[in-house]
Amino acid sequence: MKKVPPGEAAHFISECDRWTKKVVNSHLLPTYARVDLAFERGEGAWLITAAGERYLDFTSGVAVNALGHAHPYLVKALTEQAQKVWHVSNLYRIPDGEKLADRLCAASFADTVFFQNSGAEALECAIKMARKYQSASGRPERFRIITFEGAFHGRTLTTIAATGNKKYLDGFGPPVEGFDQVPFGDLDAVKRAIGPATAAILIEPIQGEGGVRVVSHNFLRALRKLCDDHGLLLVFDEVQTGIGRTGDLFAYEHTGVTPDIMALAKALGGGFPIGACLATAEAGKGMTAGTHGSTFGGNPLAMAVANAVLDIVLAPGFIERVRKTSLLLKQRLAEIKDRHAAVIAEVRGEGLLIGLRMVPPASEMVDELRAEKMITVAAGDNVVRLLPPLIIGEHEMSEAVARIDRACARLARAHPRAKPGIRQGVAS
Ligand SMILES: *Cc1c(COP(=O)(O)O)cnc(C)c1O
Repeated sequence: MKKVPPGEAAHFISECDRWTKKVVNSHLLPTYARVDLAFERGEGAWLITAAGERYLDFTSGVAVNALGHAHPYLVKALTEQAQKVWHVSNLYRIPDGEKLADRLCAASFADTVFFQNSGAEALECAIKMARKYQSASGRPERFRIITFEGAFHGRTLTTIAATGNKKYLDGFGPPVEGFDQVPFGDLDAVKRAIGPATAAILIEPIQGEGGVRVVSHNFLRALRKLCDDHGLLLVFDEVQTGIGRTGDLFAYEHTGVTPDIMALAKALGGGFPIGACLATAEAGKGMTAGTHGSTFGGNPLAMAVANAVLDIVLAPGFIERVRKTSLLLKQRLAEIKDRHAAVIAEVRGEGLLIGLRMVPPASEMVDELRAEKMITVAAGDNVVRLLPPLIIGEHEMSEAVARIDRACARLARAHPRAKPGIRQGVAS
């Protein structure tokens, strides 16, 4: 095929893509409706363009840069490792990987860890492991996994089947077999979905992409009991909620429920690509030598950075500080919501995984905030996600609140007839 110069490619794209204005002139496959904005460097919670404009980062690369940008301790860990060895493959021992696995197990329910490079891969491992567990337990007919509407588990063929979103499945052939999706929070539907071929239940303790929808602890407890009663494995997708985001190291910790398998990724590398599948020894018993692999997974660079992330997140006081920051920020957001009840319908979420359910389209709020030089990301259920780095301080919080307030005021003027939320009038 003829090579198209970037200018012409953009012209071609602009004719056939409805997000014309947002498509940027490039040879990149246009699967993202990218905003025409690029950052040259970052400092803590701030991203800076080549022209020196400073943006307040309340996206953190979608829950990835938990320690902000260019954290000196992470920079040091990465550059020191880069001077030693980058990659050796999994044919040899990687001491930093053994250390990281030890630390993740010491800090969680798990006995064993497999490292990958992304969230979707961590889920692939979790799904394979759940099936293999049943097979190794003498029940090879059990391979199906129950998932929930509004879920997000990644973009590989298997994880889009687990996600079950028609938008992501459309045009990619028959969905990978073996997923039974039930409505969010519907325990009877879960019970009905359990059959002789069911192997596991897969759930995010808080749906991130689905719109910061918190699953009730009672529901999770009921799932745990169903799994125990039926010999199923309970798999938590903590790719977005893990590593301090929700005010605990892992979101499951304050639910009173322990999974058998847990997928991690995003914040674990602080911006360096990494994924991890954690499991109990029992759940992992089928994954013997030769059953799974990855060329890059657990690479020394990733291990060095993730160990450095844990040094900081596990340090005394770090998680408590996330909780305090969350409490203050949510209080101030609730005040804004009361003042702008025709714009913000609800403030929800845990820790620093916060969702603003909007009255006008969430995308308008994201645009208004970007005009305020604050970046956020939309999610399902007409929600704007606030995912600041966990290290934000009083200054960043005040700036965020002021910018959100101004964006709300503009949206209120733009939508004068929007129905006010039920709490209007309760405002201070
Ligand atoms: C982001 C995400 C994934 C997919 O992670 P990738 O690294 O993009 O493959 C899976 N599950 C959840 C809950 C996520 O938020």
